[in-house]
Amino acid sequence: MRELFRTSIVFRSTSIVLGITLLIGGLFSTVSYLYFLRAEQKQAVQIMHDLLNSVENTAQIACYLSDANLAKELVQGLSKNHDIRQIVIYQKEHVLASFRRDPNGNPSPIDKILSATGTSNGIQRNIHSPFNASEQVCTVAMETDQLAIRAQSSEKASFIAYLLLLQAIAIALIVATLILVLITRPIMSISSRLHRLRPEKGELLQSPSYHGSDELGTLVSDVNQLIGNLVSTLDEERHLRIQHALGERKYQTLFDNAETGIFQINPEGQLLSCNQALLRMLSINSITEHDTVLLQALEGQELRLHLMIDQTTQTAQAASEDFLIETGQGLRQKKWVHLVIHSAENGVLQGLMNDITERKLNEEQANRLAVTDHLTNIHNRLGFEREMSRLAKENARHAGCDFFLLLIDLDKFKEVNDSYGHAAGDKVLMHFSAILSATLRKTDFIARLGGDEFVVLLRGVSELGTAQRIADKIIQLTRQPISISDREQVVIGASIGISFTRNQEFAPASLIERADEALYTVKKSGRNNHHFSPS
Ligand code: GH3
Ligand code: MG
Repeated sequence: MRELFRTSIVFRSTSIVLGITLLIGGLFSTVSYLYFLRAEQKQAVQIMHDLLNSVENTAQIACYLSDANLAKELVQGLSKNHDIRQIVIYQKEHVLASFRRDPNGNPSPIDKILSATGTSNGIQRNIHSPFNASEQVCTVAMETDQLAIRAQSSEKASFIAYLLLLQAIAIALIVATLILVLITRPIMSISSRLHRLRPEKGELLQSPSYHGSDELGTLVSDVNQLIGNLVSTLDEERHLRIQHALGERKYQTLFDNAETGIFQINPEGQLLSCNQALLRMLSINSITEHDTVLLQALEGQELRLHLMIDQTTQTAQAASEDFLIETGQGLRQKKWVHLVIHSAENGVLQGLMNDITERKLNEEQANRLAVTDHLTNIHNRLGFEREMSRLAKENARHAGCDFFLLLIDLDKFKEVNDSYGHAAGDKVLMHFSAILSATLRKTDFIARLGGDEFVVLLRGVSELGTAQRIADKIIQLTRQPISISDREQVVIGASIGISFTRNQEFAPASLIERADEALYTVKKSGRNNHHFSPS
């Protein structure tokens, strides 16, 4: 029953209507019972008064004459009224006539009747002589039958209660039928249609008949609108999901097939994830959680990596650097890589790694070529200038050393060119550069400035004697005949201008100038010698 009450609108509404109607009916029945009881009592007393009025003359005569028979007839006449339970006509203490509608037959004492007549249940009237109005001849006391009056009131109240009950049942049935027809059945029809509905095929609900413009019709149109919105949202979401999946697949393919190593690291530099290209670059097959393989490859340069991480975390801009890494187990392989790191979300950093070994080698080659004399394979003028600026920087840091500069020009070299040809001259130039390389230490610097002019920097040499001894040796070796072909030899000489600088006093221009002056002095004084130009 409780389940039915919970699940059925019809049952619930009918029960509530029935219950309320019965409650109201019960209330009305009680009120009407009490009302009718009072009304009947009043009416009975009024009737007794009316009856007494109508028989008062007869009572006067019967009492005046003390005629018991007449008094008895009078009492019998009054007793025909069923609402009267007891009648007594008495003269002082003497009962002239009486009547009692008492099934037990026990006489009521006069006192009891008299006390009843003092209430709403009875009346008593003094009867006077027909000839002298001031002379009381007897008293008539009457008591109403409360049981009879109560039975009549109860009958009327019950009738009303039955009527109300019938009315309640009828209203409940009508309400149940109306709810069933107007609400429940249309709702059930909407519900079953909704159950079978396939919104993805564009199906919509239809309003139940005769409910197009009422609340159910509005409900159906709202549900249809909701379904429409839902279907379009789902379509949109599906479309976005497909787009997202396609995009993801595309990026996954890019990620997997990229030649660039792509990875994620934490602020400690531990590898969190990476693509195949990075695995190849690091010469590994896979990574573990929080892998330190990148840090191992950067061994000795971890500080630079952490500086990059700090920089990109603080500035939110990408940081990039070139690193020389070592990969592989055992036989370690060196590679140049360009690393770009950018801070992402949640403290994770994204990175790109490109193998730039070939580019670096090409750059190194190009740099070497730029500072190398192609004929003699020693430094050229640019190399000399760079070396001088490097020494100047060292000097600025007080990290340099004393050195001698030897500016060398071959003697009568043009004649070789003129006599034996340019190729012979080239051979002589190569031979001389070989003499310099063989004579000097690895730490000394040799360059060909152009033509037959060479320069030597004797680093860490502070004694003029040492520099002069080296110059002598160069001159002596240069004097040796040089074979320019199987049958021909040439003899040349070398003039050397020497200048010196202490570390702190380093001034490139003046150093070269003084060496140049010294060289000029040698050339002027017969060549094939050296000369020192002090500062
Ligand atoms: P000096 O004793 O006064 O130095 O006279 P020199 O004959 O050595 O003449 P100088 O030093 O003034 O000239 C150098 C010559 O070297 C001039 C030029 O023709 C020649 N020359 C310059 N570059 C090259 C080169 O690459 N190869 C050859 N074979 N000769 C060169
Ligand atoms: Mg010369």
